[in-house]
Amino acid sequence: QRTPLIAGNWKMNLDHLQAVAFVQKLHWALKDAKHEFDTVDVSVFPPFTDLRSVQTLLDADKIPFGLGAQDLSIHDSGAYTGEVSGVFLKRLDVRSVIIGHSERREYHAETDEVVAAKVQAALRHELVPVICVGETAEDLERHGASAVPVGQLEAALAGVPASADVVVAYEPVWAIGSGQAATPEQAQEVCAKLRDVVRAALGDDAAARTRILYGGSVKAANIASFMRQPDVDGALVGGASLLVDEFASIIRFRK
Ligand code: 13P
Repeated sequence: QRTPLIAGNWKMNLDHLQAVAFVQKLHWALKDAKHEFDTVDVSVFPPFTDLRSVQTLLDADKIPFGLGAQDLSIHDSGAYTGEVSGVFLKRLDVRSVIIGHSERREYHAETDEVVAAKVQAALRHELVPVICVGETAEDLERHGASAVPVGQLEAALAGVPASADVVVAYEPVWAIGSGQAATPEQAQEVCAKLRDVVRAALGDDAAARTRILYGGSVKAANIASFMRQPDVDGALVGGASLLVDEFASIIRFRK
């Protein structure tokens, strides 16, 4: 009953002109797949500076992609140089926001506490938090696959109401940008445990409705194997979301 979600995290790629050209090409590549938008949700997560241009294009051409941001501030306004408020994102018709990506945790020292505050900030402005969790290669060796992502998700969901709309993304750090994806069985095992965390924190309804994505070297050639797993409800795609034909094929994973 969960609609699959294919999400493209562009990271720090594509300026606003390239972004508009890319979305137009992607929409064109999917022109004979219109019916699939009833059964697959597609979202793109461009850099902040692209959001206005992409939002204008999606609106003008009635392109059925959701718009997301890659981060937000824990604050709503004030003297926080360089930060972007959820209030501003909401005004731009942004629907969702990636929170706690491993690159933010690693390069910007985002702790579980910061991630939890960002989840609260997103929910305050009716933005869907896409909560990213995942273990490093070292974590995997020391604690196995699920201990770290389970702990990260428990921390992120503290204080979240049972009715909240959230998305979880399991992204093993060792699989990101490495070309070495987790196996579908590995992804399923951890995603099932993450669903148990959602159940314990938010209840049965939330566990049944919350979409849990896999991310890490997803491409057209492996997407179908992930989508066959009962607890994998979609993908958070990095590198392959920057290639029109490849990303279009991922969106059409049923073909
Ligand atoms: P890749 O698809 O490039 O491995 O990146 C995954 C990712 O980090 C998406 O957020």
